[in-house]
Parts: sequence; C-alpha cells; structure tokens
Amino acid sequence: MLFLALRLRQQKLLRLEQTNQSLLVASETDPLTQVGNRRYLDKKLNILSQASTELAFLLLDIDHFKTLNDAYGHDVGDDVLVRLANILKALCRKEDVLARIGGEEFAILLPNTNKSASLVFAERVREAVASNAFEVSERVTVSIGVALGNTKNADYDELYKQADTAMYRAKTDGRNHVRAFSQA
Ligand code: GH3
Ligand code: MG
Ligand code: MG
Repeated sequence: MLFLALRLRQQKLLRLEQTNQSLLVASETDPLTQVGNRRYLDKKLNILSQASTELAFLLLDIDHFKTLNDAYGHDVGDDVLVRLANILKALCRKEDVLARIGGEEFAILLPNTNKSASLVFAERVREAVASNAFEVSERVTVSIGVALGNTKNADYDELYKQADTAMYRAKTDGRNHVRAFSQA
C-alpha cells in the first residue's frame, strides 16, 4: 500500500513538473510564429552574459507591412509573419537566438560573431526573404539593422537603440537593405 502511495505521489510530481515546464515554454514563445518572445530574448541575453564573446544584434522589420495588411487583410499578414519566421528559423544556427519582439519586428542574437560575419548573415537573410514566394503578388522585403557588442556587458536597450538607428538608415536608403550601426 505504502509503495503504491509513493508511486502515485511520484507520478503526480512528475506531471506537475511537466506542466510547469510547458507553462514556462509557453510564456517565452510567440503564439503566432512559435519563435521566442521578448522574455525569451532577455533570458538568453542574461545567460550569454556569463561568458565574454563578440555579439551581433540584428533588428529586422518588414517593409511597408501596413500596405500589405490593408491590401490583403490581417490573416494574410499573419501568414506572411509565420512564413518569415520559418525562413529566419531555417537560417539561424543552434546557438543563435531568434525572437519576435514587436508586431512585425524580429531580433536575432548572434553570439561569437564579428561585424563582417554578421553582415554576411544579415545579407543572406535579406536575400532569402526577398526571393521567397509569399502568398501575395508583391515582393515581401525586410530592412535589417546590425549592432555589435560583447555578451559580457550586453545592454539590451543600447543594442536595440543602435540596431534601430541602423535599421532606420536601411529604410531611408530605400528599404530591402542591411545597415550596420556606426557612431559617425
Ligand atoms: P515600414 O517599411 O516603414 O516599416 O512601414 P510599415 O508599414 O511596415 O510600418 P508601420 O509601423 O506603419 O506598420 C506596421 C504594421 O504592422 C501595422 C500593423 O497593421 C501591422 N501588424 C503589426 N502586428 C501585426 C500582426 O500581428 N499581424 C498582422 N497581420 N499585422 C500586424
Ligand atoms: Mg515596425
Ligand atoms: Mg515595417
């Protein structure tokens, strides 16, 4: 009897643990695209800060997404977001961190990546999106801003600000571009 009671208790604990784990994953996942959310990104940055390596922060934003939404409707817009997320997932390495941090804005952290390698990666992403056949007749493109730092003292707000400045330049330079932040 005692053995049976112990086993039941163990099973109950295991189930609780599994439930906790799935709740944790859900709280860090964007329900639409199934990539990480801002909370997930923060957690990963925190973990990365325990070591000191080069870090690239990419900020990616869909070009003229509002026009696309207005022309085709929100559901088609959502479908574009899902397809875009899948393209990004496929291009990321295992150690890279992909997150949807706003409506049509994604961030990618590339640990152990210097400026030239991060620009090559960003360009590959830009090209993969621009050449992909989405279910709309217009070409879907993205603008990407790149900021560089170190995992040790990575400041999310600063990296975001710099990547956003670079992305703004990609937009004003005509969109469907990659730009890196520079102090100048
Ligand atoms: P830009 O090239 O300057 O980025 O122009 P834009 O139209 O992409 O930028 P803007 O910020 O004006 O529009 C973003 C649009 O993204 C507004 C909103 O309709 C759309 N959006 C945001 N979140 C979602 C979402 O979850 N699903 C869909 N379908 N659309 C979304
Ligand atoms: Mg935006
Ligand atoms: Mg946009």
